[in-house]
Amino acid sequence: MAGTTKQPGRPTARATGAVLKRLAELYPRHPLNVMPQEPFQVLVATILSSRTKDPTTNAAMDRLWPRASDPEGILRLTADELAELIKPVGFYRNKASQLREMSRLLLERFAGQVPRTREELIVLPGVGRKVANLVLNICFDLPAICVDTHVHRLSNRLGWVETDTPEETEQALMEIVPRRLWSTLNRVMVNHGQQVCNPVSPRCSTCPLAVKCPRIGVVKSR
Ligand code: SF4
Repeated sequence: MAGTTKQPGRPTARATGAVLKRLAELYPRHPLNVMPQEPFQVLVATILSSRTKDPTTNAAMDRLWPRASDPEGILRLTADELAELIKPVGFYRNKASQLREMSRLLLERFAGQVPRTREELIVLPGVGRKVANLVLNICFDLPAICVDTHVHRLSNRLGWVETDTPEETEQALMEIVPRRLWSTLNRVMVNHGQQVCNPVSPRCSTCPLAVKCPRIGVVKSR
């Protein structure tokens, strides 16, 4: 269980919880403009967001959703029409094909519903562990930590983990973050990573976490 043991140099569950609660006050909304009660929307937006800035993803979703807001709707569009609607998200032609194939599988195997297990989610095209965890987490309130590039970077800078891959970060975070805050973690760390603790030039002088951060002023991009 989170926080029952403490490795030397690692924060306690109480310490990580305090930081996450502080960030949650600052960042009440996820940068992806999605509704947790709409799993298909969250799934599509998360796939589109890969290698794409969130404002670009949100704009693409604003164009796509009035035309296609369920698997049947996606399949009524051709791959070219889909690509035009989601352009310029990264790899938009590949993603258009993935969305059509994913919609076909959802209808064939899951009656058009987004499945509620990681094992089922990751068989869908374009869905890896990161996307699956976000859907499980914010749509179904199931315990999972979605580690993207921001979560990975910030967790390392704060000294919470010392890891090389998002998968290692996910495992390490599960040991030191209270389970009740797993759903909050992605939202607040992505916001903080985008707005303050950016990859190349973190704004340490205005960072509310500076007093607790071992890397203040000495951060290099990782
Ligand atoms: S003090 Fe600097 S390095 Fe540390 S979390 Fe804040 S912005 Fe990032």
